[in-house]
Amino acid sequence: MAGLSEKRLEARWLWLIAMSALVVGLYIAFHMLQTVNATQPQQEIGRGVEVFRAPGNAPTLDELLKNEDIDWQTEQHQLLSYGMHSDPIWFRFNLPRLDQRHRWLLEVDYALLDDLQIWFMQESALLSDYSTGDSLPFRSRTIASEKFLFPIPEADGPITVYIRVQSSGSLKLPLRLWDMEEYLVHGGEHGLMLGIFFGFLAAMGLSNFFFFLTTRSINFLYYCGYVLFLGLTLLTLHGIGYKYLWPENIWLQGRSVVLFANATMFFAVIFSRELLEVYRHSQFIDRLLKISALVFLGLFVSSLVLPYWLMIKTFLLLLILEVLFICGLGIWLWRRGVAIARIYTIAWTTLLLTAMIASLENLNLISLDINSHYLLIAGASVETVLLALVLAVSYNQQRQHAFDAQQQALEKERELREAEHQAQQELEYKVQERTLELEITLRELSEKNQELEERNTMDSLTGIRNRRYFDKRYLAEIRRSRREQTTLTVAMIDIDHFKKTNDNLGHLVGDECIKAVAGKIKSLLKRPADDVCRYGGEEFALLLPNTDEQGARTLLEHIREQIQQSPVDTASGDVSLTVSIGFVSAMAASSLEDNTLLSQADQALYQAKEQGRNRVCQFIPNQSQE
Ligand code: GH3
Ligand code: MG
Ligand code: MG
Repeated sequence: MAGLSEKRLEARWLWLIAMSALVVGLYIAFHMLQTVNATQPQQEIGRGVEVFRAPGNAPTLDELLKNEDIDWQTEQHQLLSYGMHSDPIWFRFNLPRLDQRHRWLLEVDYALLDDLQIWFMQESALLSDYSTGDSLPFRSRTIASEKFLFPIPEADGPITVYIRVQSSGSLKLPLRLWDMEEYLVHGGEHGLMLGIFFGFLAAMGLSNFFFFLTTRSINFLYYCGYVLFLGLTLLTLHGIGYKYLWPENIWLQGRSVVLFANATMFFAVIFSRELLEVYRHSQFIDRLLKISALVFLGLFVSSLVLPYWLMIKTFLLLLILEVLFICGLGIWLWRRGVAIARIYTIAWTTLLLTAMIASLENLNLISLDINSHYLLIAGASVETVLLALVLAVSYNQQRQHAFDAQQQALEKERELREAEHQAQQELEYKVQERTLELEITLRELSEKNQELEERNTMDSLTGIRNRRYFDKRYLAEIRRSRREQTTLTVAMIDIDHFKKTNDNLGHLVGDECIKAVAGKIKSLLKRPADDVCRYGGEEFALLLPNTDEQGARTLLEHIREQIQQSPVDTASGDVSLTVSIGFVSAMAASSLEDNTLLSQADQALYQAKEQGRNRVCQFIPNQSQE
């Protein structure tokens, strides 16, 4: 919303600036024109002049003077204008009586006449004659002015002027009679006006060329081309080009108008096409513009070879069509809401209007207070300024668009990066979650493993540790004893005559007995480090760390006694049992093999059995004793 109203505000400002430029430009132009208009010619010569349109081979002056039958016609219009007329035309008129204290000039205010001959006669005597025109080098002119100027000879009687004109372009003869002093003032002012105008065009062209060099925006170059060729066209129309730029080049002077005018239109069209971005609105109109630009380019090239009259006719026809087309296009885009199209249309309409008014004045359909040349110049100036303004605005808009697009791209990239970041975070979170789950599973697994391990080390019948566990534990205790230099007691307990018990009471009762003995032994072990394992069958192995022979014997005797005194309560009644115990108490020396103590305990057990059972035997190296 804010962006929209900002844009509207900007458009209002632009509108205001454009309109101010227009008003100020017009004011200055009119002010200057009024100043210039203060000098007026003595007389405009037109209505009443006798005209003889000579078909084909025109007569010479001598023939004219001799021939009484010539069909002179009196001109009814003030402007002597005959359109595209390639045959020569003769004019005859009498000058009014002139104050002989002043010097006088006859001005032909149209710089493009090819062939212009003039004779000043008194009665039938020739006072002076001049032959000039575009088909002759510039130096052929009596007075080196961009317009045709002829000094009027002094005479004591009335002067008759004969003029013969021939031109391949449009033929007109705006004649003015000037007091030379007046003309000096007028010429100075006129020169100043033109100087300002062409200086302005050159400055606009150059500055836009520099804009092109710095911004590389091609439209500045198109505009520069347009302004420079517009300037050249107007220079040619005013005769200034011939005077200053190519005074010897008759060939160029003969076709410079069509060359430059076509180039101007070529640049005007490609400039408009680019400026208004027509392709955005209609491919068809865009193509039409392209074609018309090419047509003007083609006319430019053809102007180098084809005759001037043909080229200028074609150009003028196309010019009218093109200007109407461009104005229509401007209005169409204006109505479609293209902001710059408004100023653009006004710019072209200004030029078109001034051109129209100038033409109407030229055709004597209206009469103006000011010279129509200047009006056209004012129109062209306003147009040039407005177009430059539009160009600047459009360049700024394009830059803004590019900036916005870049900003959008950045924003999108930022969003993408954010999304990526978020996705990564989510992924990391999920990985963490999974890792945690995995850890839990692993822990559970390890617990289960431990449980399994534990179960693996348990004896299923008796509920005490089994042989597998004993082997490990035994090794550990041996190492500890070796490391800490403590006495370790290893004992083996075997139930006496158990085969008989089994045989008599059955295996199930036997199992019960084994279970009861295991439970008994376990219950009699008080130290946490003491451990009993089922070693196999009805044999048990005991590990008593940090226990010397004295303590071991006491404990083992107690065990033996307790078993003897506590018959096992079975399904087949009480079963009395005794056990034999062999043990060894020693510090594991480093030289000692790991299983030595175990085998020694076993040997001691064997001795206990040998000696009659139900007793405790200690292993004494090289000898055994009860
Ligand atoms: P000794 O006094 O010499 O030890 O005589 P004994 O009969 O106990 O002889 P020995 O130790 O060689 O025999 C062990 C017997 O224990 C053999 C078997 O019948 C019995 N036995 C071994 N394991 C089990 C068991 O798991 N359950 C039962 N019910 N009996 C077992
Ligand atoms: Mg046994
Ligand atoms: Mg036994």
